[in-house]
Amino acid sequence: RVKEQGKNNFEFYTPEMNETISKKMKLELGLRKALVNNEFKLVYQPQIDIGTGKLLGVEALLRWHHPEWGTISPAEFIPLAEETGLIVPIGEWVLYKACMQNKEWQNEGYSPIRMAVNISSLQFQQSNFVETVRKILKETELDPIYLELELTESIIQDSKHAVSTMHNLKNMGIYLSIDDFGTGYSSLSYLKTFPIDTLKIDQTFTRNIYIDQKDASLVSTIINMAQNLDLKVIAEGVETAEQLQFLQQERCNEAQGYFFSRPIPAQEMNYIFQQQFANKK
Ligand code: C2E
Ligand code: MG
Ligand code: MG
Ligand code: MG
Repeated sequence: RVKEQGKNNFEFYTPEMNETISKKMKLELGLRKALVNNEFKLVYQPQIDIGTGKLLGVEALLRWHHPEWGTISPAEFIPLAEETGLIVPIGEWVLYKACMQNKEWQNEGYSPIRMAVNISSLQFQQSNFVETVRKILKETELDPIYLELELTESIIQDSKHAVSTMHNLKNMGIYLSIDDFGTGYSSLSYLKTFPIDTLKIDQTFTRNIYIDQKDASLVSTIINMAQNLDLKVIAEGVETAEQLQFLQQERCNEAQGYFFSRPIPAQEMNYIFQQQFANKK
């Protein structure tokens, strides 16, 4: 504990800070070992065509099961993985695993669906990112049209690199979407320069459709804008029939959320593949 005994009695570290730092260091050490120790798993959440109830795709979501600490939420470890750079190897594992799983479902005879994978800015900024994606698609033999990369608005910041990387990915046939749309602070003008296919309406808007008229207005506005720009739009965090009905009225293309299914392990997807979602409305 460093403490300066000057006349201001200035403290560099408080006991609380020490606690936070060591907790973070422990988490970081754990995270460093998680890949080799096989502690990561992917779960998958269905994405449904609102018009037909058809399963169009799934989003792969990362789970960390630590032998002592139990399950750690991505909200807790993804920021740390980004801060430490560990998100690069972890993200590569996610991409590989997700592509392999999607190919496996196709091999099992299910009609092909899209696999959406979250990509962090740091991962996207790597100079070999496009090559890594190409390599993984080749190794897993997944057709690029069944892969979707979920990017966040923060990627747009480094616009020169971002626009060329996106065009390279697009030319391979990969789908690109903007995750958590409406929560970033970037200007909307990127929507005309970047080759984006889909906007994902953030769940904070979806959640409040029937609570706050302003959220409902924002959701309709995003849907209309997407349609006018020829982009597809998917609403995240759909939990109720009422929310779904609103989205249907507004002609939103797709929905994802607990109303249809929580994120589930691969083996539980067999049931989802055989299920028709249309009757849930
Ligand atoms: P996201 O990409 O926006 O993912 C959606 C999050 O909302 C997921 O949380 C999902 O479980 C949750 N969710 C889905 N439907 C509902 C619903 O109806 N209601 C509510 N309340 N929540 C719902 P999760 O799995 O905890 O992931 C949190 C975030 O962590 C993700 O947000 C994403 O930003 C990040 N993340 C997860 N996996 C990865 C990954 O493999 N790589 C990277 N870079 N980030 C990841
Ligand atoms: Mg996402
Ligand atoms: Mg999101
Ligand atoms: Mg998010």
